[in-house]
Amino acid sequence: MPAPLVLYDNYTRSLREFAPLDPAGPVRVYTCGPTVYDYQHIGNFRTFLFEDGLKRVLRWNGYRVMHVMNITDVGHLTSDADTGEDKMEKGARRTGRSAWEIAELYTQAFIDDMRALAIDPPDVMPRATDHIAAQIEFVAELERRGYTYRTPDGIYFDTSKQPDYGYLARLDRAGLEAGHRVEPGDKRSATDFALWKLSPPGSRRQMEWESPWGRGFPGWHIECSAMAQQYLGDWFDIHCGGEDHIAVHHTNEIAQTEARCGTRLANFWMHGYFLLQNDAKMAKSAGTFLRIGALVERGVEPLAFRYLCLTGHYRSQLNFTWEALDAAATGLARLRSGFHALASAPDAAPDAASVGRFTAAINDDLNFPRALAVAWEVLRGSLAEPVKRATLERFDDVLGLGLAAWRPAQVAVPPAIEALARERADARRARQWAESDRIREALRAAGWEVEDRADGYALKPRG
Ligand code: AMP
Ligand code: ZN
Repeated sequence: MPAPLVLYDNYTRSLREFAPLDPAGPVRVYTCGPTVYDYQHIGNFRTFLFEDGLKRVLRWNGYRVMHVMNITDVGHLTSDADTGEDKMEKGARRTGRSAWEIAELYTQAFIDDMRALAIDPPDVMPRATDHIAAQIEFVAELERRGYTYRTPDGIYFDTSKQPDYGYLARLDRAGLEAGHRVEPGDKRSATDFALWKLSPPGSRRQMEWESPWGRGFPGWHIECSAMAQQYLGDWFDIHCGGEDHIAVHHTNEIAQTEARCGTRLANFWMHGYFLLQNDAKMAKSAGTFLRIGALVERGVEPLAFRYLCLTGHYRSQLNFTWEALDAAATGLARLRSGFHALASAPDAAPDAASVGRFTAAINDDLNFPRALAVAWEVLRGSLAEPVKRATLERFDDVLGLGLAAWRPAQVAVPPAIEALARERADARRARQWAESDRIREALRAAGWEVEDRADGYALKPRG
C-alpha cells in the first residue's frame, strides 16, 4: 500500500489525510496570485513553488488538478487596514506609465519568471479587472443578506454578524477591539473590512467603475471570493497562499463566502512560509527585494532557486543567502551531471522500493527535503545505472528540475587547443609517453582536460 497523502490544514491546525471532494472530478485548487504593481520577488516565488510542488504531488497520487490563480491588477491598498494608497496607482506614478500598462508589464514578467522556474502554469489566470461585475454582484448579495453597512468612503463587511469570524487565524477579537478607536464616519469594528471603496468626490482614479453604491473600486478580498466561486464553485478542495494571508486576506475571504454561500470556501487551507533575507521578511512594499532576474545577473540559473526551495520544508521560514544559493546551484549541477553520466536502457523501469520511499516523503505533507535525499541515495546507491536513471526521471515529475531535458553547454574548443590535442594523439601513437604527458600538462595549464577514448580523445573545459 502506498503511503496516503497527508497535508497540513491551517483551518483545523492539523495533518489530515487528503480525499477529493468530488472523487470523479479534478482536485480544485485556488492560489492567491501576484499583485502586479511591481515585479514578483523570490519570496513570492517561494510560495508559488510550494504551490507548484503541491500540484505535482497531487498528480503523482493519480489526481487531475484544476488550478485557478488570480492576477490582482486592482484594489490593493498599501495597508492591510483598507487605508493608504492604491498600490497600482502608486506603481504607475513610480514608473511614469498608466496603471493599465504596468499591470500588463508585470503580469508578463511574472509569467516569464514562472516559466524560468519550470512552474506549471495555472489552468485559469483570471484578472480582477475582468471580473468587476462578479465582484459587484457578490457585494450586492452580501448587502441583501444584511452583512454590510455604509460609511462615507465605502461599503464595509460587518464582522460582528459572524460568531466564528477569524477562526482560521484564531484571532483575538476582543483584544483587537480594545485597541480600536472609532472615529466618526469610520468603520465600526477593527476587523470590519471594505467590500467597495468609493472614489473621493471630485477626483478621478485611473481604475474605477460604476456600481450601485457609486463610482469606485472593489475592496482587496472580494476578488478572490468572487473568482474562486465563479471558476471552482462554493466549496472546493484546497486554497493556498503565503503565511501573511492568514490573518487578514484569507480570514476575510472565508467571511465573505461563508456569508454568501454558507461554506468556508475550501476544505484545506495551506500556507507557504516566508523567505527571509537577513532574517527579515522580503517585501515588495519595502522596495528592497531580489527578482529572479537578479539571480541570473549573478550567473545563477533560476532552477538553482527551485532546488534551494526544495531543501526547506514549506511550513518553515527559509533565510536566503547567496552562499545557500551557490550551494544549491552546485547540488543541482552535480545531480544533473550524475544523472547524465548514467547509462540508459529502453526497458528500464523505476525501482519500486525507491519510489515507495519517495512517495512516503512527498505524501508526508510535501516533505521535499526528504524526497531530495531519496533522489541522492538513488544516484549514489548500488542499483543498475538504467534503473537509477528511470527512477530519477520519475522523481523529476515532482522535483521539476528538468533532469532529462538538460544538455551540457557546448563549449567551442579554440583551434590552438585542438592542435595541441592532436599533437598529443600523434605522440601517443608514436608511443612518446613523456611528450604526451608534457602536452597533457600544457593543456591543463590552458584550462582543458583531455580524455582518451577508444575512438580518439575528448576535450573538456576544466573545473
Ligand atoms: P503579493 O504579490 O504580495 O500578493 O504576493 C504573492 C504571494 O507571495 C502571496 O501568496 C504572498 O502571501 C506571498 N509572499 C509574499 N511575501 C513573501 C515572502 N517573503 N516569502 C514567501 N511568500 C511571500
Ligand atoms: Zn486571494
